[in-house]
Amino acid sequence: DADPTLRPDPLPEDNDRALRPQGLDEFIGQAEARANLRIFIQSARMRSEAMDHTLFHGPPGLGKTTLAQIMARELGVNFRMTSGPVLAKAGDLAAILTNLESRDVLFIDEIHRLNPAVEEVLYPAMEDFELDLVIGEGPAARTVRIELQPFTLVGATTRMGLLTTPLRDRFGIPTRLQFYTVDELHEIVTRNARKLGAPADDAGAREIARRSRGTPRIAGRLLRRVVDFAIVEGDGRITLDLADSALTRLGVDNLGLDGADRRYLKLIAENYAGGPVGIETLSAALSESRDSLEDVIEPYLLQQGLIQRTPRGRMLAQKAWTHLGMAAPKGQSD
Ligand code: ADP
Repeated sequence: DADPTLRPDPLPEDNDRALRPQGLDEFIGQAEARANLRIFIQSARMRSEAMDHTLFHGPPGLGKTTLAQIMARELGVNFRMTSGPVLAKAGDLAAILTNLESRDVLFIDEIHRLNPAVEEVLYPAMEDFELDLVIGEGPAARTVRIELQPFTLVGATTRMGLLTTPLRDRFGIPTRLQFYTVDELHEIVTRNARKLGAPADDAGAREIARRSRGTPRIAGRLLRRVVDFAIVEGDGRITLDLADSALTRLGVDNLGLDGADRRYLKLIAENYAGGPVGIETLSAALSESRDSLEDVIEPYLLQQGLIQRTPRGRMLAQKAWTHLGMAAPKGQSD
């Protein structure tokens, strides 16, 4: 039911190097974030200093990693990448920090999942480019201070609310990424279809864009699958008919919702009369982790006005009843 192709999280087999935008000029959408980053990058270059620490937040697949890579390239420095859950001990982070060259970009994905002991090490590193390491144990333990090269930390998180305040406060450039518009995804799909050697006509590209849940990673995956259908069952070109029938066969409906999204909406409709229903209850009933509901499924349903979050739980909006082809119980529609 929950086809991983349709989820916005990275898959191990994601090989999108060919499609990844290489520079800010090639990066489509996020106009405001892009315009600001351009200024901050240029200023850092003119001052010959490390760029200020930057935090990207927003749902998975919107381009946080891509923007961090672009920053490093445009700053003319190395790009190093790790993630919160991978850094188990303070020493793991220390090893990475001491190996950075001057002004390098260090990208930490899922930074809200840093272990507190590792996070402690990060504070003086971010603020003063210093590392306080404890050597030895018990009464013989002592602290040594190590000077680091100035660097730029780029953090990415899907959950701003889970970041500790001291960590959040140390980012000079907090940047929220938004879902993409259909026009922006249309441009991305058109360009990528050409790169994949299966040109899409205007209506075909628009159909994929419209059904990609505002997310370039999903647009990329759906495009690859549609290209497969175009090559095997069509003449290698992507038209509206071809895109529509391929997406429908992939279980992506007219709004771009997949099986997992529909299961979520149907559960609230059929078992809870439209809600409100608590997130823990939904998580248990759907056998999906609370995190994946909150990070992956809900943001787009909220943005589309299909559900509402209330203090007492999630509720279906009228648009969801219409989409499911069901009638809202009396007195429950908004
Ligand atoms: P995140 O780190 O936010 O999960 P990524 O940076 O890994 O997202 O991007 C996911 C995929 O979408 C990548 O394949 C990337 O090439 C593509 N992508 C993201 N943003 C854009 C964009 N603005 N234009 C074109 N492709 C994009």
